[in-house]
Amino acid sequence: MDGVGGAAEPVLSLAPHTKNKKTFYNMCGIFGVYNHKEAANITYLGLYALQHRGQESVGIAVSNGKEIMTYVGMGLVADVFDRNVLSKLSGEIAIGHVRYSTSGSSELRNAQPITVKCSVGQISIAHNGNLINADRLRKKLESGGSIFQTNSDTEVILHLLAKTSHSASGIVKGLLQVLPQVRGAYSLLILTPESLIAIRDPWGVRPLCIGKLNSSYVISSESCAFDLIGAKFIREIDPGEIIVIDKKGVSNYFIPVERENYAYCIFEFIYFSRPDSKVFGQTVHMVRKRLGHELFKENPIPADMVISIPDSANSVAIGYAEASRIPFDTGLIRNHYVGRTFIEPKQSIRDFGAKIKYNPVKELLNNKRIVVLDDSIVRGTTSRKLIRMLRSAGAKEIHLNISCPPIKHPCFYGIDTPTEKELIASTYSVNEICEFIEADSLHYISLEGMIRATGMNGKDFCLACFTGKYPIGRG
Ligand code: AMP
Ligand code: SF4
Repeated sequence: MDGVGGAAEPVLSLAPHTKNKKTFYNMCGIFGVYNHKEAANITYLGLYALQHRGQESVGIAVSNGKEIMTYVGMGLVADVFDRNVLSKLSGEIAIGHVRYSTSGSSELRNAQPITVKCSVGQISIAHNGNLINADRLRKKLESGGSIFQTNSDTEVILHLLAKTSHSASGIVKGLLQVLPQVRGAYSLLILTPESLIAIRDPWGVRPLCIGKLNSSYVISSESCAFDLIGAKFIREIDPGEIIVIDKKGVSNYFIPVERENYAYCIFEFIYFSRPDSKVFGQTVHMVRKRLGHELFKENPIPADMVISIPDSANSVAIGYAEASRIPFDTGLIRNHYVGRTFIEPKQSIRDFGAKIKYNPVKELLNNKRIVVLDDSIVRGTTSRKLIRMLRSAGAKEIHLNISCPPIKHPCFYGIDTPTEKELIASTYSVNEICEFIEADSLHYISLEGMIRATGMNGKDFCLACFTGKYPIGRG
C-alpha cells in the first residue's frame, strides 16, 4: 500500500532528515478507537469531524493485534482516504491525526501518526501540541547515536522511549520515565499492536476526551467527533493522566510532574475548537456567546446591525446581538469551497484573497452602521481587506470588535502563529491598528472580560500570547 501519499510502515523511511529545518508547531487533531471491527473507518470519520484542526496532512495507523499498518497523505481526510485504502487498513485498534501548518515543513514526512519499530516493539504515535525542549533533547539523543527521520518534535518521545529498557508490556513504566523529561504541550495517542494509550500533559494545554461507542472506547481532541459516530462522551482526560486500554480493560496512571496550576489554552475557546465541542468542561459555543455579551458590556456601540466574520465569529456575534438587542444578520457570505491555492488572473484583482473567500450582501449593508465581530487579529491584513469590502458595499460606519485581547506574543505550545514582529499588536497601539485596518472604531475584549466569559479560574489558563507570561516556559 505505498501509492500516492500513502505508506506501509515504517512511515519513517519516507524521507531523510534535513538539518536546516524550521521548527514547526503541531496544530492538530487526534482520534483513536479501541475494540471496533471497523477501527480505521471509525477513525476516518472521527478525523472528518476534526478537519478544522488541520487540513495539511492526515494519517491513520491501525493494529490487527499483531502488527501496525500506517497510511498517511497530504490533503484533506476525504481526499487521502477512500473506500479502497480504508478496506486495506484492517484491525480493531486505530489512531489518526490531522495536521495543520501555515508555514514551512509542508511535507509528507511530517505527517502523523509516526510508526516505528524499536526496542519496545512496533509503536505508533500521534501528537497535538508542541514540546519546548525537543531541540535540546534531540541534540542529546543524536550525540548518543539516535537517527531521526522527521523534523517533528514528536519523534523525540519515541527515541526516549526506545532508550528505556522496557519491553512493550512495560511501556507504561517507560512512559512514566520519559514524559517527565519532556516539557510543553502534548495530547498524545500511542498505538501498540495490543493497546491504545491516551496521554495529556500535566498542564492540560490541549484538550483530549474519552467516549464509548457500544463496547468500543474512543478518544478525541474534541467531543464533536463523538457526536458524528454516535459515541457517548464519558469525560475529559485529566491533565497529567495516562489512560491505557487493552485486553485487561482500562487503567490510568499519572505523570509525576509538579505544577501549581493548569495551563489550558484559552485560544481553543477563542478560535480553534469547533463551537459544538465540549472543551475544558465548557461548550465552546456558549463560551463564545458569553464573549459577545462581555464585549457589549465593555463597549456598547449604537448601531443598526451586528454581523460576524464567518464562521469563527458567528457565536460571538450572536452573543453581542443578544446583549445589545441590535439585530444580527449575515452581512458577509463565506465560500466554503475555497482550497489552499487558487490561480489569480495576470491582471491582479484588488484584495483578491479576501474576495474569493467572502462576499458582502450589499443590499443589507447599504447605509448601515454595523458592529463587526471577529475572533482575533493576527497580522491585521484580513481585517483591513474585509473592512474595505464592507465599506465598498455601502456600510456607513464599521466598528470592529475582537473577542480576545491584542495578540502580542507568539505561541510555543502548538498554535501556529507568526513571529512576534509580524504580530501587528506587538508594535502598534489599538488606535494605530484601527487606523491601519481603516475601521471607524476598534475594540478588543479585556483580559478579565475574556476570562469571565469562560466561567473558569483565570489561573488555570495559558494566556501567554496576550501577556507574554509563558506558564511552561519558552524552551
Ligand atoms: P490576520 O489578522 O490577517 O493575520 O488574520 C486574522 C484571522 O485569522 C482571524 O480572524 C482568525 O479567524 C484567523 N486566525 C487566528 N489565529 C489563527 C491561526 N493561528 N492560524 C490561522 N488562522 C488564524
Ligand atoms: Fe494558547 Fe496563546 Fe497559550 Fe499558545 S500562547 S497555548 S495560543 S493561550
